[in-house]
Amino acid sequence: MTRHFCWAYFAFYGFAISLAAQNSELSKEVKEYVKVDAPKVLLLHVRVIDGTGSAAIEDQNVVIEGGKITAIGTGAGVPTTNERVTVLDLRGYSVIPGIVGMHNHLYYQRRPNLKSDWSGEAPLLLPQMTFSAPRLYLAEGVTTMRTTGSVEPYADLNLKRDIEAGKLPGPHIDVTGPYLEGAKSPYIQMYRLKDADDARQLVNYWADRGATSFKAYTNITREELKAAIEAAHSHGIKVTGHLCSVTYPEAVELGIDDLEHGFFVNTQLDPDKKPDHCSESSGAYTLEHMTPESAEAKALIELLVKHHVAITSTLTVFEGRTDLGKVPPVRQEVLDAMAPEAREDYFVLRNRPASAPVPKFDSKLLYKNATALEVEFAREGGLLIAGPDPTGRGDVVPGFGDQREIELLVAEGFSSVEAIRIATLNGAIYLGKDKQIGSIAVGKNADLVVIKGDPSKQISDVENVEIVFKDGVGYDSTKLRQSVRGKYGQY
Ligand SMILES: [Zn+2]
Repeated sequence: MTRHFCWAYFAFYGFAISLAAQNSELSKEVKEYVKVDAPKVLLLHVRVIDGTGSAAIEDQNVVIEGGKITAIGTGAGVPTTNERVTVLDLRGYSVIPGIVGMHNHLYYQRRPNLKSDWSGEAPLLLPQMTFSAPRLYLAEGVTTMRTTGSVEPYADLNLKRDIEAGKLPGPHIDVTGPYLEGAKSPYIQMYRLKDADDARQLVNYWADRGATSFKAYTNITREELKAAIEAAHSHGIKVTGHLCSVTYPEAVELGIDDLEHGFFVNTQLDPDKKPDHCSESSGAYTLEHMTPESAEAKALIELLVKHHVAITSTLTVFEGRTDLGKVPPVRQEVLDAMAPEAREDYFVLRNRPASAPVPKFDSKLLYKNATALEVEFAREGGLLIAGPDPTGRGDVVPGFGDQREIELLVAEGFSSVEAIRIATLNGAIYLGKDKQIGSIAVGKNADLVVIKGDPSKQISDVENVEIVFKDGVGYDSTKLRQSVRGKYGQY
């Protein structure tokens, strides 16, 4: 068949998208953001980056039927004359699997009355972004995500249910329960655990109400963590941690499943570290001394790999925080998404004030060691997963941050297709969902990101997302983005 298909052929081969809708359960509000929804969709002449780490394959056809990928190959799925097929000619485009975001909060970090010298007033607040965050994640290619710590667990659980019911747009969500935090915490919205029994009760309560993961935080004690892990595992649920009071080797021995922020927050070598208490540098001392070739690094990586503990890379939140000598680029779309106040706070935090204390540690060395350890961990067979952690200075924004994380993985030494795998298939493996999602393969759910350009050659092309398929329904990235203009940081 030599016929030249193009976008205009929608009408020729198929029929109006609204008539084709197979997902009648999607609400009117969600349909507003749907660009493609038909019983059979053919992505024609597209470059496939399948998420396994394999090289890109040029000029493939990908067929989507009933929410699944049903065929992939040169010339696959070309319709017979009478067949109703919606055809997208994707010459010049690539598809990658839907991103599986593993540190994807649904809140924003607000500092009341922030001044130009970075001072503000307590308490730090984490307002919920139930409206903007899911839309931005989906718009930028995230089709599955873990919240990695909840401050409004009822809202997160209801959001997940409403998305699954087709009432709201957004990715599939692994709802992490409320933070498992110790007695003292800078975050007033977090529950403060009293003891091990309290930790057990919290886990049981939220697991019974639908939480599908848990996250331990910086002031938890070993006893509390142990009890929480045992309780979670008894529900078949995994536990991750952004730790400080418990070191990485201690957490591994207690049975933790995943550790957040790569190697930035391990406190095992900190000289002032006391059992069950966070150290002053929160791990910076350890990281400064843990060069990748050190005996400590080798032993730690061996321990993590042996116990199948995953590591979540969140380079996005560190590239801005550390004094690396260059300020990360700002994207216009990111500024457009932000509420005016969020934008203002971000510009205050972007510039280092003269009054800021001189850092006690060499940020460049910390970043260098941390990235080298992540690469080494992955090379040794460790499961490296990724997420943006949209907090920090406020410029790590849902969705855009997931793309930036992929770019930073490439900068730290992974190939483009390896970085895409870390952000897709590896997350699916961690979640135990790699039979259904995480890569582009026949039989898997049609979670696909349509990208203009070739991220296998130029990784910044991951920013050029135009359509995001979730379960075979193609969402319009531009429309989703426009719907949250000026709202991130507020709703
Ligand atoms: Zn976080």
